[in-house]
Order: sequence, then C-alpha cells, then structure tokens
Amino acid sequence: MRPSAGKAAPVRTPVRGSAGRTVSGRTVILPSRPGSRSGQRKPWVGRSYGHLALPVPHLDDVHRDLLDRAVCGDGSWTVVNAEGDSEPGLPVLRRQWRHASGDSLLLVVLGWYPLVLTVGAEGAASLKVRRAERRLVEAALAAGGLTVPDAELERVLTQCCERWEKAVAARRVLDEQRTWLECRFCRTCGAWSAYGVLHCRGCARRFAPADDAERDERGRAATEVSAAAERELASLGCGEGVFPDWPAAPPAEAAEAASRPHGTVVTAS
Ligand SMILES: [Zn+2]
Repeated sequence: MRPSAGKAAPVRTPVRGSAGRTVSGRTVILPSRPGSRSGQRKPWVGRSYGHLALPVPHLDDVHRDLLDRAVCGDGSWTVVNAEGDSEPGLPVLRRQWRHASGDSLLLVVLGWYPLVLTVGAEGAASLKVRRAERRLVEAALAAGGLTVPDAELERVLTQCCERWEKAVAARRVLDEQRTWLECRFCRTCGAWSAYGVLHCRGCARRFAPADDAERDERGRAATEVSAAAERELASLGCGEGVFPDWPAAPPAEAAEAASRPHGTVVTAS
C-alpha cells in the first residue's frame, strides 16, 4: 500500500470567504519567517491544518523522532500508538499525538518522493493543539521542509505518484545490476559464480582472460548504470523539481543522504 491523493487526511474543510481568503472557525497564525523559504510564500493565516513537504523520500525514523520531539517537547503530549504506527524499517504513514487534556493532533502521510504530509487538529483545534502544530511545522521547516498551499496539493501529489513509480523502477535497476557487480557468468555452462572466483561453480573450468575481460566490462557498465539510478533516486527522494528553488541542499548532499540506509521501498500489492 502506498499513500496517494485518494487517501486524504481527515482535515477540516476550509470555507472560502467572499474575499477569496481561506478562513475557518478557528485560526492559526503562523507568521512568515523572513529569510526562510516559507517566507517567500503566503503565510499560513486562518487554518487549523497544513500541508508540508520534506526533502526525504518518506517519513523515516529520523524525521519521525524529530517531529515527535517538536510536539512532545513541552512534556504534556504523548505519541498515540507509537508501536503500531512504526514498524522497524518501514516508512511511517501516520502519527497521532494526544495532550493530557485529551486534545489530539494528527499527521497523515499523503505522498512519497518527496514526503508530503498533512498535519492538523483531530477534532477541535484548541490553542494547545495549534501551538503543538506550530512547533511541528517550525521543526519541519528547520529541517528543510516547505509548506504546501492547498491549491498546489493536487499537482504535488500527482507528481509524488509518478515519482514513486520512477523510484520503484530505479530500485529494480539497482537490484538487476547488483548481479553483475557480485557475480560472473559462465558462457560454457550458464552457471553464475562469485565475482572474484577463478573457477566456474557449474562446470569447474578455469576462467580464461577473455572471460575476465568480459566480466570486468559488465561490472564497469553495471557500476555506471547503478550510479545513475542512485542519482535519480536521490533526486526523486529530495523533491528536486517539484517546487522552484527547493530543496536548498545541493544535489551532492542529497545523494549522500539518500545513499545511507533508509528502509525499504514498499511496492504496491
Ligand atoms: Zn561453467
């Protein structure tokens, strides 16, 4: 299963005012931060929920913990169903926090490559909830995130679906190429052996210099194809091309971040 535009978060529906501004019963005022990326966009005014994009492929453990700390930092919030919502190594799809008073803040992942999520009050947006939401948003922005206006959400989620499919294809390329990086093929018997061995595991013949040259050539080609797939994964994961001038991190840094272990791509079933 994967997040998609079809699985919208249970957010409060904004009411369009006559002046075209988004208003809702309870207002959240998130001032724009001069000098920050959010400052280039219209500040959040009159909302009790918001959408965010983060320059990572999905909500991984690191960012989940970052958001947990932001919400629970004042000591009166706890994570609801922490175990059930985060299987080791798998992306987090939702997160819920509850205040001691019973108020609740909910996060739902809407898209991957890059991570797009909605966060908002579950039920009434009390001052406590709005403050917790603001802490979460500020933590996300500090981590290179971006607020996504309602008007852009559909476009962004459509891109997430397309980018997710490209990411799955890139992962498949990496899997296929790994064979040529770790194994060698015997033309005589068709068996696969470990890359460095001298004798075929199938027919026991000693590999000739021509076999070694062919293996090395395949290995070089596989290295190049794999590197291109890694670059594409990094670009897809950090959200390059979805918004102008975002993310702020240079591609090299994003590629380095993406090459670190970060769980498994979950394929649709
Ligand atoms: Zn053989």
